[in-house]
Amino acid sequence: VAKAGGKDRVRVFERGMREEVAAQDELVRDLRAAVGTGELRVLYQPQVDLRSGAVTGVEALARWQSATRGLVEPAGFIPVAEATGVIDEIDDWVIAQACAQLRAWDDAGLPPLRVAVNVSPRRLTTGDLAVGIAAATRDAGVDPGRLEIEVPEAVAAGPDAAAGIRAVRALGVHVAIDDFGTGASSLSRLQDLPLDRLKIDPSSVALLAAGAAAGSVADAVIALGNSLGLQVVAEGVEQPAQLAALRSLGCDAAQGHLFGSPVPAATVERLVRAGRPLLGAA
Ligand code: C2E
Ligand code: MG
Ligand code: MG
Ligand code: MG
Repeated sequence: VAKAGGKDRVRVFERGMREEVAAQDELVRDLRAAVGTGELRVLYQPQVDLRSGAVTGVEALARWQSATRGLVEPAGFIPVAEATGVIDEIDDWVIAQACAQLRAWDDAGLPPLRVAVNVSPRRLTTGDLAVGIAAATRDAGVDPGRLEIEVPEAVAAGPDAAAGIRAVRALGVHVAIDDFGTGASSLSRLQDLPLDRLKIDPSSVALLAAGAAAGSVADAVIALGNSLGLQVVAEGVEQPAQLAALRSLGCDAAQGHLFGSPVPAATVERLVRAGRPLLGAA
């Protein structure tokens, strides 16, 4: 009886595995189709200059508005996309969208914003990211200097990213290290890369309280950025006390719910046109 029960359990387990694999296959198929059908969307989160209070740029963040699954956040599809290679198509599509949006904002008479896009590790290390970006900016008629790529810290510090980063930077595209301070990267390796900005992760910003800023990870990243001549952008700023602490530490720019969540392009335009500094300049 015990043996039969064991076999049953194995069968149930195997069926569970098969169902999981089938569900995964379906997700990948739907996702691949979504890239071409308009189910994929780009939201833009404002980035605010902490000296002037002005919106100087935005980060492009992908969303999947699926007919069958509803709104899927990046956590629900980016990992699968990376594991299967669909991410290449997604990143290229997001870059093309971002360039077209820049063109549209320029044509609408907005001040020149910069758009940051996230790039996956494989897109950066396979070598043709720079070629793709060159084509996308040319097609849209925008200066590559208006674009920034965000490279996760662990990827930038790895052995395979340097050539891709240099090629993209050679076009004039800006390079930011995303979620800096969350990985154990080799600082000497980062020092050798042509970088523009470091982004402080929301988890490090969350630990900032008024009066307790000194000695924090944010403090260390800002000091490091200053000493390397890099701008520092804080992500996930939600509370006025965090903003005050970041300002006192000399942080250059910030994004987060305190300033604005990721929103459609039309909302960005309204925000920028309103023109008033977000949360008052220092
Ligand atoms: P990330 O690039 O570090 O993006 C920052 C995340 O913080 C975003 O999550 C954003 O919505 C969220 N965020 C914004 N304001 C706040 C805040 O005040 N507090 C907190 N705690 N979080 C805030 P999201 O949009 O879910 O994106 C998650 C990750 O997915 C991104 O992290 C990025 O690594 C990846 N991702 C998004 N779009 C793309 C894409 O087009 N291509 C690639 N390769 N990755 C993408
Ligand atoms: Mg990012
Ligand atoms: Mg980010
Ligand atoms: Mg980040």
